[in-house]
Amino acid sequence: MSVMTVGGPISADSLGRVLVHEHVQISYAGEQLDPKPGLPRAERIEVAVTRMNELAGQGVRTFVDPCPIDLGRDVDLLAEVSERSGMQIVCATGFYHEHDAVGIPYYWRQRWPEEIAELFLHEIDSGIGPSRIRPGVIKIATGQEVTRHERKVLEGAAIAARESGLPVITHTESSKWGSVQQDILEAGGVDLSRCLIGHQDEHTDFAPLEEITKRGSFVGIDRIGSNRLISDDSRADTVAALVAGGLADQVCLSQDHLCCLPAPRDPFWIPPDRKEWFDREIRPSLEEEMFGRPHTYLFTDFLPRLASRGLDAAMIDHLLVDNPRRLLAGE
Ligand SMILES: [Zn+2]
Repeated sequence: MSVMTVGGPISADSLGRVLVHEHVQISYAGEQLDPKPGLPRAERIEVAVTRMNELAGQGVRTFVDPCPIDLGRDVDLLAEVSERSGMQIVCATGFYHEHDAVGIPYYWRQRWPEEIAELFLHEIDSGIGPSRIRPGVIKIATGQEVTRHERKVLEGAAIAARESGLPVITHTESSKWGSVQQDILEAGGVDLSRCLIGHQDEHTDFAPLEEITKRGSFVGIDRIGSNRLISDDSRADTVAALVAGGLADQVCLSQDHLCCLPAPRDPFWIPPDRKEWFDREIRPSLEEEMFGRPHTYLFTDFLPRLASRGLDAAMIDHLLVDNPRRLLAGE
């Protein structure tokens, strides 16, 4: 089976090492109205091309950017980065979650699941915008609770996944509700073995991961390097436990890391009376983690942690080549 990239379909054999959940950029609704200039498009492309070249040096040939429609998705920018770097980039259709009022545009909140599916299937079949670039994955997301609108979007995504055969990549908050995502997808007739339940890094106990894998899906240990959420040693322990537990076929590794933010101001709230403290105590390390940390971090800093837990080179390739291939291409 072939896999759709922003540059067109490619064969499963040419996927190579895959990072299943990364971003070139993300942005938030309304940001485009800011009179203050943000990072120019040409500079964003430059940063991304540099990062793609660094990843190519680590054997990565495919970069999945599951940015949903409502989080600043720009498929033409992805296509340009892909063309200039040679990296195979896969983009997504789908909506984000309602948590903190980030995602799901108002108009689409009023729609039935069938209408939402119509949008996703239109993008899958006819392409996105004038350049008609086609998504290779469907993205879904839930927040701290699974809300009514999120549920409808998931039901719509399930119809689109069932009809198109595209894989599903999910976002979870605090690693919660993966099984509920599976329930909704399964009820919609989706093949759970083509679903990656994402951001499962924050579990420290094995049972919820086993529960997800038992139903056939992949689990994403896919926020590697975000030590604010949980330590990479804990992530490495989790991966080692999954492998030791016979679940090596159902683990995907990634970082959910971004190359840049176009926004001219912070995309999060800082109380005015905390601004000085934030700039002094938090910002330097936050910016280092967000922009200083290269995309090659997974290879330079995380893989050695897996090696020290007994995972050999063949197992690493299994996690970075074979598993993403089965997720994306079904073979
Ligand atoms: Zn993400």
